[in-house]
Amino acid sequence: MIDTRSRTRAAALVLAALAVLLAAAAAPAADAPLRVIVFGAHPDDCDIDAGGTAALWAAKGHQVKFVSVTNGDAGHQSEGGGALARRRRAEAQEAGRRFGIAEYEVLDNHDGELEPTLAVRQQVIRRIRQWNADVVIAPRPNDYHPDHRYTGVLVQDTAYMVMVPNVCPDTPPLRKNPVFLYSQDSFQRPNPFRPDVAVAIDPVIDQKIRALDAHVSQVYEWLPWVEGVLDTVPKDPAARLAWLRQQRSGRPIAEDVRAALRKWYGPRADAVKNAEAFEVCEYGRQPSEADLRRLFPFFD
Ligand SMILES: [Zn+2]
Repeated sequence: MIDTRSRTRAAALVLAALAVLLAAAAAPAADAPLRVIVFGAHPDDCDIDAGGTAALWAAKGHQVKFVSVTNGDAGHQSEGGGALARRRRAEAQEAGRRFGIAEYEVLDNHDGELEPTLAVRQQVIRRIRQWNADVVIAPRPNDYHPDHRYTGVLVQDTAYMVMVPNVCPDTPPLRKNPVFLYSQDSFQRPNPFRPDVAVAIDPVIDQKIRALDAHVSQVYEWLPWVEGVLDTVPKDPAARLAWLRQQRSGRPIAEDVRAALRKWYGPRADAVKNAEAFEVCEYGRQPSEADLRRLFPFFD
């Protein structure tokens, strides 16, 4: 027969073992895959802003999800509505496959009508929590397009709120605020973009172009129409891919982005031809330089 003291000691040992197991489950292993979620306003924005970096993460086994906050059902010169939204969703799925990322989700909010409402903020909070994100990327709230602008507002409004249990109580909160990053733009007011991190994407620029090539309704139809160059787009798929490569690769790198490349890559930076850059948002977790080297494992 077991006396009370032995029983108590046995129970204490079981509890101690459970505590060790729970601690091990809660603490992410140092080499656990990073979890990155990128938000864009339209199906193709994540791709343009962060596609190269996403491909580099994915190639190293990290988990990347793209989210388009609108369904892209308005931005086209001759199509629109549900048929265009379906086409854009299929193009996004194919682009995600070509980038090698884990998921590409298109939310069913109307294109051209996005507003920073509580309902859409909650959609964003749930996506970040469900992805258990270490890194969240979105445009800045300074942009020519209201959908881009409000995507920036919506995502930065979730920094901190993703940790508050009584907000969206149907989805467990994060215990740690992710690092929130803004993707690069060229707008100057009220303040210009600051490239805190710059990533050389030369090894994956061809993959990025091939993924953009999946967005046929955007890169070969809508965007050239807006820019008045639709008649320069070749009809033949191979010829138009070459046209896209010419348009989208080897663009001049801004001097401040080049300086950021030098900071992270050293002298190798001067040979870089294609880059993506990111600014740390003040409202998320503030990463140290060592944190950024862990989150962007590309510099060595
Ligand atoms: Zn857009």
